[in-house]
Amino acid sequence: MEIEDEVPIESFEGIIFERPAQVRLVLKSLDGWLEVRGTIAAQAQAECDVCLERVEFDVHVNADERFDPHGDRGADPFGEGNVVAGTRFDVADLAQQVVLSALPMGVRCPRHVDSRLLGTEKKER
Ligand SMILES: [Zn+2]
Repeated sequence: MEIEDEVPIESFEGIIFERPAQVRLVLKSLDGWLEVRGTIAAQAQAECDVCLERVEFDVHVNADERFDPHGDRGADPFGEGNVVAGTRFDVADLAQQVVLSALPMGVRCPRHVDSRLLGTEKKER
């Protein structure tokens, strides 16, 4: 099963996502697990940690996750198992988790960036 979707990402610690993320996923059943593979691409905006200039950068993530579709629901409503609610697969939840986990620890504009630390592409306005 293939999923192609646009998912809005909630802002996180000063990092804003003005446009929805582009999500492309392939879902497979594998040994009773739900295997999710694909890519998620988002454009993030934040202020440079040094000069507070607004920085825009791309977040590209390769998703490679496995979920237990029979996992105990209701155990932790905010846990990772919540992405799979029975047979319903929550693309928005997964995209949010994957994108947030891939965000850089600090945001720097092109003048202050240390390119060895950040693999994300920078665009200056
Ligand atoms: Zn700066």
